[in-house]
Amino acid sequence: MKETSPLNLYKFLPQTNCGDCGEQTCMAFAAGLIARIRKIEECKPLFDEKNQKKYGKKLDQLKTVIAPEVALVYVGAGDQQLKVGGEDVMYRHQMTFFNKPPFAYDVTDAMSEADLVERVKLIDTWKKFYIGNWETVEMVAVRSVTGDASKFAACVKKVMENTEKPLILCSFDPKVLKAGLEVSAAKRPLIYAATKENWKEVAQLAFDYKVPVTLSAPFDLDGLKGMAQTFAEMGIKDLVLDPGTAPNGEKLQESLQNFIKLRRAAVEEGQKDFNYPVIALPINAWLTTKDPVRGAYWESVLAATFVIRGADIMIRHSMEPHSVMPDMHLRFNIYTDPRTPVQVKPGLYKVGNPTDDSPVFLTTNFALTYYTVESDLGSNNIDSYLLAVNTDGIGVQAAVAGGQITPSKIKDAFAEAGMDFEKTSHKSFILPGMAAKFSGELDDLYGYKVKALVGPEDSGRIPGWMEKQWPPKK
Ligand code: SF4
Repeated sequence: MKETSPLNLYKFLPQTNCGDCGEQTCMAFAAGLIARIRKIEECKPLFDEKNQKKYGKKLDQLKTVIAPEVALVYVGAGDQQLKVGGEDVMYRHQMTFFNKPPFAYDVTDAMSEADLVERVKLIDTWKKFYIGNWETVEMVAVRSVTGDASKFAACVKKVMENTEKPLILCSFDPKVLKAGLEVSAAKRPLIYAATKENWKEVAQLAFDYKVPVTLSAPFDLDGLKGMAQTFAEMGIKDLVLDPGTAPNGEKLQESLQNFIKLRRAAVEEGQKDFNYPVIALPINAWLTTKDPVRGAYWESVLAATFVIRGADIMIRHSMEPHSVMPDMHLRFNIYTDPRTPVQVKPGLYKVGNPTDDSPVFLTTNFALTYYTVESDLGSNNIDSYLLAVNTDGIGVQAAVAGGQITPSKIKDAFAEAGMDFEKTSHKSFILPGMAAKFSGELDDLYGYKVKALVGPEDSGRIPGWMEKQWPPKK
């Protein structure tokens, strides 16, 4: 959806301001649709059978107008269902990206049961706290390497016994895929893949089992487009495109260019018969090496590159932290909304078990700054209080320059948080070094009853600062 004006969506709504959707007005609902915090299904009058004559045409038009430029495909079922694709822009700074590409980690039907269960449990429970969020691994890609349909079905079943995460069923043999679907279709797995050789049988499977399907035509965009059109004509529209992921050399360059061409075709050229999410296979790094360090490293490089180049979903292998973490962080940062800084709730937080003798630090409510300071304090066992001043999510340096943090705002923030300096033994707090210029004015504001100490500019230096400066001299 390229539409940015609520007024242009408002004309497709009933305009009765009935409030059924939870908004007071249809205009507010239209604004919610543009921000993608509202779904059209929430406007019940639009979907009421009785109103079909009155609103049917408007509803169809609205659906067309709000459809994302890259089609949105749902994979999985229930709470763990994932949105794949659904993007509207080429580059993040043009608005925002909405649905981070799920990482699917592979298992195979050649693994022993013990190894299979262990790896699925690792995928299922993997998580890392990063800037206020738990980052997780989203999917399991079950690969058929034996070519045996019954082994594949047993493997898929075992995976499902150990995780609720959505699946990708990987085989080019329709019989193997069918066996996997027999046991997992209710979970709406993604099939990988239909090719020029097997597309008729795989299309039939996607149609019969009502599951999304990947179309694979490596380095042949015309062939991919032809397949997409054929599937769409058959009424199969939950498609993912695989334009090929070469692990290195000139073909890798071609892969990257193809990813960009596909995103451009969807977003800038409006090719509606070719606007599907795209899958990348960083796992192909392992085609070039068996060395575990080199493979994990190169897989991570490929994944990072394809996150930037618009991959909407990925199949990966290495679960080594040095391979997963950089891509998790990159993905997190690219898929945060640049229009809204990532924030924590303003207020006074405890780090460890602070007492009346503990230092009191302050920072802003920009999540990256807050969690960095909190982590530096916590990992150095500095029991303390930490005030997050509301700067609308702006970091210290910019907030000082822009006036989002001032001495009086700091004093008010401490008061609102209920900080009673009289109870502390030191009657002081520690300013970030970048707000040092506020120190004198704060002393004045507090009538010299509370001392504003100047801490280091970098919270990583707090332990060294503490050694020399804490407790403060009377
Ligand atoms: S439910 Fe529909 S008609 Fe009612 S206020 Fe919301 S958008 Fe308007």
